[in-house]
Amino acid sequence: MLVFILNAGSSSLKYQLMNPIIKKVFASGLCERIGIDGVLKHEYNDGKKLTLEVSMPTHKEAIEAVLSTLTTGEGKVIDSINDIDAIGHRAVHGGEEFSGSVLVTDRVIETMKRLIPLAPLHNPANILGMEICQELMPGKPNVAVFDTAFHQTMPDYAYMYALPYDQYTKHGIRKYGFHGTSHYFVSNEARQMLDKKYNTRIVVCHLGNGSSVSAVLDGKCIDTSMGLTPVQGLMMGTRSGDVGAGALQYMMTQEKISIDDALNIMNKESGILGISGKSSDLREVLEGMQNGDDRCRLAVEMVAYNIKKYVGGYVAALDGIDALCFTGGIGENSALIREIVCSGLDGMGLNLDPTKNNKRRHDARDIATNSSTSRIFVIPTNEEYVIANDTFKVVSEIR
Ligand code: AMP
Repeated sequence: MLVFILNAGSSSLKYQLMNPIIKKVFASGLCERIGIDGVLKHEYNDGKKLTLEVSMPTHKEAIEAVLSTLTTGEGKVIDSINDIDAIGHRAVHGGEEFSGSVLVTDRVIETMKRLIPLAPLHNPANILGMEICQELMPGKPNVAVFDTAFHQTMPDYAYMYALPYDQYTKHGIRKYGFHGTSHYFVSNEARQMLDKKYNTRIVVCHLGNGSSVSAVLDGKCIDTSMGLTPVQGLMMGTRSGDVGAGALQYMMTQEKISIDDALNIMNKESGILGISGKSSDLREVLEGMQNGDDRCRLAVEMVAYNIKKYVGGYVAALDGIDALCFTGGIGENSALIREIVCSGLDGMGLNLDPTKNNKRRHDARDIATNSSTSRIFVIPTNEEYVIANDTFKVVSEIR
């Protein structure tokens, strides 16, 4: 079973060719600057790299270039696109319509089009990716794996905003949550790492350029920090996270800017970048902090403090905790952020072992002390595997 995984964004796309049964990746890569000029970065045969400049006026030329690179020339890993069994698409917003992965049909595409107002930047690119794959690989099954699906189990009292109820019934205004494939993967791994099989209470911190926390009870999400859109919740690389509506309106009045401009600031100029004034990349900001830059210090402390507040809130929501999990570029690599988040949480049963925390490793591991009543795990996420495996499962069901 060979799955071509596609994550199509507005001006870039990521891909992987994977056999989910044996968890083997044959190639992966990225097309950038679609609609401008076009660069294809291809990695194949366990680490060999290739960079190609290819004209990509639209996503179609980009996907054609990827398929050609997979099947011909130096980066070739398969003889023909006929070797691909199915295509798995990362799809961002499934609204309340999709609580699991589905075979892409005309109806699914129509529903995703109807959901475009909820994700105006992401859903159109996802749909385009699906339509192009249907055209370039006719007859191959396409599967949509939604970022929001895992969070569909949240109870109504967790996902509702306290706006007038008809805002929900008329427009679907509620929390949806994102990074679902990662929260699913990590919480599932954590359940296997725990001795306990029932009443498993897990908090997952997915900390990367985009970040979110979720509370997972017995494998089902009961709350998550992102909302109707990904701007809510934690402070992120360039997103502000939670900001009061009054502060937003006041900024708009003082700066004489539109709501679109204000949202652009909240999504692209805030977070770690906005506070540090240096970079959205935590590594660079940690370096700035070490060199005595006080705004970098502030950004790091705010990041950690925000995560800690959500962790505490979700431990309460779960009536306790069995495992706190860290994942994503920051969660997997920053011992300092993990240390600040866990400091003082002994009363919740979370006792971090500093030696285990500081050891640089890349596998899933427990960094709590032996005497800690709850576990603290670092678990590398694998969203592509979830997409490939779901694709395999959906395709197996229809065969
Ligand atoms: P992601 O979006 O999951 O790729 O994560 C990107 C974020 O992880 C960036 O802010 C990086 O600076 C951060 N990151 C990656 N490696 C490290 C590291 N060793 N220490 C601290 N932050 C890191």
